[in-house]
Amino acid sequence: MLDLPAFLHLWRSEAPSRLQQELDRARLSQLVSHLPLLYVILCLNVVTIAFMFASAAPPALTFAAPSLLLFAGVTRAFFWVSRRNKTICPEKASAMLHSVHFFAVGFAFAYMVWTLALFRYSDTGLRTQLVYTVVITNIVCSFTLAHLRRIALLISFMSMPVFLFMLGYLGGADAKVIALNLMMVAVFLAYMVTVSARDFEKLVDAQLRSVELADENRLLANTDSLTGLPNRREFFARLEKAIDAEGEGGGLFVGVIDLDGFKPVNDLYGHAIGDRVLKEFAARLELFAGDATTIARLGGDEFGIFVRGGCDDPDIMNLGVQICAAMKAPLKFADVYAGLSASVGFARYPHDAMDAHRLYERADYALYFGKQHQRGEAVLFSSDHESKMLFNARIELALRNADLEKEMTVEFQPLMDVKTQQIVAFEALARWNSPEIGSVPPDLFIPVAESGDLIHLVTRTVLRKALAAAREWPEDIGLSFNLSTRDLMSSYAMTQIIALIESSGVRPGRLEIEITETTLVADFDHASRAIRRFKKMGVNIALDDFGAGYSSLSYVHRLPVDRIKIDRSFVQEMHASPIARDIIKSVIGLCDNLKLDCATEGVETVEQYDLLRKYGCDVVQGFLFGRPVSPEEIPDLLTGNAVAQDEARRA
Ligand code: C2E
Ligand code: CA
Ligand code: CA
Repeated sequence: MLDLPAFLHLWRSEAPSRLQQELDRARLSQLVSHLPLLYVILCLNVVTIAFMFASAAPPALTFAAPSLLLFAGVTRAFFWVSRRNKTICPEKASAMLHSVHFFAVGFAFAYMVWTLALFRYSDTGLRTQLVYTVVITNIVCSFTLAHLRRIALLISFMSMPVFLFMLGYLGGADAKVIALNLMMVAVFLAYMVTVSARDFEKLVDAQLRSVELADENRLLANTDSLTGLPNRREFFARLEKAIDAEGEGGGLFVGVIDLDGFKPVNDLYGHAIGDRVLKEFAARLELFAGDATTIARLGGDEFGIFVRGGCDDPDIMNLGVQICAAMKAPLKFADVYAGLSASVGFARYPHDAMDAHRLYERADYALYFGKQHQRGEAVLFSSDHESKMLFNARIELALRNADLEKEMTVEFQPLMDVKTQQIVAFEALARWNSPEIGSVPPDLFIPVAESGDLIHLVTRTVLRKALAAAREWPEDIGLSFNLSTRDLMSSYAMTQIIALIESSGVRPGRLEIEITETTLVADFDHASRAIRRFKKMGVNIALDDFGAGYSSLSYVHRLPVDRIKIDRSFVQEMHASPIARDIIKSVIGLCDNLKLDCATEGVETVEQYDLLRKYGCDVVQGFLFGRPVSPEEIPDLLTGNAVAQDEARRA
């Protein structure tokens, strides 16, 4: 049935611009493939009619006029053939479609005037043939131009009076029937053209929607939902493309940006505030993005940056300084005031590495180095970093192949009670003597073991040996043991550690687990759960290296900590720096208030010890009282303890 409202709507409606563009593009591609053929048919048609009327009509109508029509038809056919396989911009597509209106209507008009003029010169038989030829031509044109419904309908309507005139001219009952018939055909044709044009628009619309949906999905998959920045996947995809475009030329820098102190803010104020903080920092970073600079969120509080455009080392360090300065500006929300900072590590392409992954690895190493030595600053990957990375790789390989039971040993360093001047415990310190590399200090191999997933094995080996040694000591001598963040984060590793302690024969009350602040910062919830598991079985907890990290007092409040160990850097600076002295004094005061034990490590001189005793420190540890020793040397140290006890009693 004729859908009149839709018909009228389609006739009037203006499609939205993106759809309009897509429609223009689709219509044009149809025209490019159909119009040459249509013009060829029209030309053959013109030649046939010219021949039919050759002897009846004057040369102006059988030669000059058809030649002009043929010229126009052939030119247009070539024009459309030449447009095949060419990309046409939307503006040009629209202009070309307008030209189709002009040419098609012009051609149809000229054709009809010509056939009307010929009509006069023929007999009835020839005229009837002419009417049929023109009608068939009209149907072919309407269907070929169906998706350009305005033109198709216009040509149909234009040709209608011509047919009627021709039929009227022919006269007779037959002509009336044919006229009626033609009218019906014309209406049906108009309807078919309208419907097929509407179906064509619907099809294009559906295609456009599916393209838009795919674009939207792609955008979602490549965007970080919190900050709106490109995500890790998109970052690496763009970086790889940029490296390919760069070739061997160089001048591309990759950076990794990490917030300092974000996790404590997240722990303290909750995830909603944490998200706001991340958004704020992402917005600050986005200001640095531009044609040559891409910024992305790689995950957590880590952001990535890469800069093209041939800048040099000083340029990139300058950018790093600007980024760090922007990130240092304090954050103020309704009830939150946080002063965070960010560290940045950069690596150069192709100087430091040739592919995206290795570049990232090196920038990340520079960042890791910066976080340890130049927190809140930008660091460029150097040859020194490269050799350290290589050495770490060597350590990891040797550690993987190591016979830990044989190569790993434990030394013990005494902890002395300031009041009684007695050794109250020993801290177990891991020692590794690799047959390949030689003796490797724990500061080097523990981080490597942590990153290479070997730490649990190292911990179990060292703990078993330490517990075996402690079993031989008097009941009142404690054992302090360092646990890695990774140990506390893994519930499987925790279960194994607890099983080792339970089966060791050492009373859990003699054991103290040393945990660094970085562990708490990494994942407070996991760490807190692990600490409570230890406390439940009677093991004591010490907060190690206090002051070296974030020193958030909230951790001390929220966790069942028994002892705080002030980081040795403060002790080493205490004579030169009044600030270090003040910090030590206030931490000792804090421990006093919270009824916690306070220990100071790294005590090397009598002057340091005297001051610490004056401030009220409970326990001291350091080379002044004893270096780490093998388990075999401990009985001698403890005999010294007994002698001191005797002397103290006699005095
Ligand atoms: P830490 O827990 O702070 O251990 C104390 C470190 O300070 C030890 O270094 C010790 O030898 C050193 N030290 C003690 N007294 C003094 C002093 O008076 N002056 C100076 N300059 N240093 C002193 P070490 O044995 O090289 O251990 C370094 C770090 O390695 C430890 O720091 C600890 O974080 C880690 N570590 C050692 N053994 C283990 C272990 O079995 N497991 C884990 N997870 N980490 C361990
Ligand atoms: Ca320690
Ligand atoms: Ca320590």
